[in-house]
Amino acid sequence: MMWSVMILSGAGLSAESGLKTFRDSDGLWEEYDVMEVCSVEGFAKDPKKVGDFYDARRAQLERVEPNFAHKKIAELKEKYPREISVVTQNVDDLLERAGCKEVIHLHGTLTDLRCEVCGNIWKVGYESQEGKSCQKCGSKKIRHNVVMFGEPAPMYGYLDDVFSSIELFIVIGSSGNVLPLKSMAKYKEKSVLNNLHPEPDLDRSFQTVIHKKASEGILEIEKMVKDFLCE
Ligand SMILES: [Zn+2]
Repeated sequence: MMWSVMILSGAGLSAESGLKTFRDSDGLWEEYDVMEVCSVEGFAKDPKKVGDFYDARRAQLERVEPNFAHKKIAELKEKYPREISVVTQNVDDLLERAGCKEVIHLHGTLTDLRCEVCGNIWKVGYESQEGKSCQKCGSKKIRHNVVMFGEPAPMYGYLDDVFSSIELFIVIGSSGNVLPLKSMAKYKEKSVLNNLHPEPDLDRSFQTVIHKKASEGILEIEKMVKDFLCE
């Protein structure tokens, strides 16, 4: 499949919906250390604590709604399903709830659980994982379906494949702490970065930089995508 446009999103896309990240100060997050709940080592040490953490995130996700930017991305994908690849670092389901199809989750999904014995992945929605067992093999050895530090991210291969074919690279709400956005942007002639706060080192790698909230920046991005695909 040859894609023309990639819309890659990060935490900044869902921030306006009220989803907190480790960077925000918020009661839920201050109780946890990122390496205790988001790393392979932390999971091996205290799986119950990690399970509780993701249960709390699922409960939080149930209480928020997709925002205008999620909806606009869904509209663009609907209009250009074969041209635009929608990729996200977010583990929430807000793009899907906005109606977006074929969302690629690089770091897994909060609304699924995974069996550690047979690898089966199934939808849990916003429920706690407590007391659940694998729907396929019955094992009680189950876990969240979010990629942790120290384990492979299977969708990165897909990301590389799509990235090699696109001409327009759009990033919304990501500071490039996890993905090498700076070097990725340099590979493409047409690149757009929409972050609320300036980050000069990252900004200068992109052709166009929009310092606005995602819900405002998306209107400029929508226009650029349409202009590009109608050329
Ligand atoms: Zn199983």
